[in-house]
Amino acid sequence: MDTNLEQVMQIASVAFNRYKTFSRQQKASFLYAIADEILAASEALIQQAKEETNISATQLAGELKRTVFQWHSFARLLEEGSWVEARIDTANLERLPVAKPDVRKMLQPLGIVAVFGASNFPFAYSTLGGDTASALAAGCAVVVKGHPAHPLTSRLSAELILKAATRTGMPEGLFAHVEGLGFEIGKELVLHPLTKAVGFTGSLRGGRALFDMASQRPEPIPVFAEMGSINPVILMPEKLQNEGGEVAQRYLQSITAGMGQFCTNPGLLIGVAGEGLDVFVKELANGMTQVAPAAMLNAGIYQNYEGKRTIVTSQEGVRIDAESQLPKSGIIQAIPTLASVDATYFLSNPLLHQEVFGPFSLLVICQDLAEMQKVIEHLEGQISCTIMATEQELLANKEIVERLRAISGRLIFNGVPTGVEVGYAMQHGGPYPASTDARFGAVGQDAIKRFVRPASYQNCPDFLLPDELKNDNPLGIWRMVDNVLTQ
Ligand code: NAP
Repeated sequence: MDTNLEQVMQIASVAFNRYKTFSRQQKASFLYAIADEILAASEALIQQAKEETNISATQLAGELKRTVFQWHSFARLLEEGSWVEARIDTANLERLPVAKPDVRKMLQPLGIVAVFGASNFPFAYSTLGGDTASALAAGCAVVVKGHPAHPLTSRLSAELILKAATRTGMPEGLFAHVEGLGFEIGKELVLHPLTKAVGFTGSLRGGRALFDMASQRPEPIPVFAEMGSINPVILMPEKLQNEGGEVAQRYLQSITAGMGQFCTNPGLLIGVAGEGLDVFVKELANGMTQVAPAAMLNAGIYQNYEGKRTIVTSQEGVRIDAESQLPKSGIIQAIPTLASVDATYFLSNPLLHQEVFGPFSLLVICQDLAEMQKVIEHLEGQISCTIMATEQELLANKEIVERLRAISGRLIFNGVPTGVEVGYAMQHGGPYPASTDARFGAVGQDAIKRFVRPASYQNCPDFLLPDELKNDNPLGIWRMVDNVLTQ
């Protein structure tokens, strides 16, 4: 065991116990202070992340704005207070044959949360990201394992959180940042007995490895891993017949934006052979040849892209429809690619069902709607599924719509999967292998629910109850009292 990590965990444990006693206003002011620190350091953050990730300053500025919004939204959630889901069933001593006790329940923080961010979102899914924000909002202590693809951005982010913690009087060690070469430090963090939950964003391989470690501990703990996805897009024939060219343009943009390095990238297109699909493919392929190769996040991500792209395009039945025809000007620049395969080959080859993280999409060509249905039935859990269809087609194909809903966290109608709105109604995460626990998500205020557990008090004297459950509701929050929602 790393002696430094042991010390970090012991201090975090003491800090967690103190933080539990802090008021919701104190916690909210900590979160607001972090947002202020981010805003004050935004130029330095963007500059540092740009140097470490090859992501454009414009894209980083948008991501930073979203990150600040996340801290603000959790701070507002704490101020309002009803998120703890207070439930009160009052006693009925007259009840026969036995008296009914007074039982009160609310959500309570789990303890120390280990956070692992992803390389492609150095702010929104890294040290300053939604996992850290939601865990601190939940009342937990947080230990972040810094991402080795942007170590300086991660360190700068950690300094900002620590500055805000000092400024708002938070207990020392409530937030910590650890780094290490290789998987050892991450493994020790997940296996440490004081760690009570893990928030992870990244690859299926990484998320699954941490999930397996956590479930084999003497005390298993939950791992909320948000992993890769191929985000299937169903292209219905009538829709393409009417608007094939426009749909192709939207998808050209979605597949190649940010060099395809989004977990919501549309990696799989599924259509029915015919005139509409021909128009769509021609337009998309033409556009793809004119998208310039650009640098990926880092050499590892590039090698992974090239390796997976080669595996997929060398499978039996797979054709390359288009590759960028513009020259590469750097080694780690990805070549945007569109490939296609007939459904029979796709159905018999699981290698074609995997994420190729980058500007790549595979088109599966079905002979008819029945074959399309069969392809959809073979798909695994996804972050998102999309259907491009006319109203008539939606009405006539409710089974397809229902199957897409069943395998995805978010079902999109006539849009693109890239671009994730942050809010209460967003579900980001889906059935395995998109996430390790599809009941929760990493985006929006409900992400807080990953790091709490319900706990009941039975016949507890009023003075000992947390304010959220006291008789006179001193916090004025919404509560369910004897089956009625009331303030
Ligand atoms: P990654 O390689 O899995 O790394 C994520 C983090 O996990 C890193 O800190 C990494 O540390 C650690 N890690 C990975 N495997 C580990 C293991 N076996 N033991 C201990 N630690 C381990 O992912 P990435 O390349 O950063 O991100 C790209 C992937 O993230 C893509 O697949 C993308 O689709 C996905 N993603 C998903 C979402 C979502 O919300 N679902 C959002 C963004 C990205 P080391 O680097 O030291 O290995």
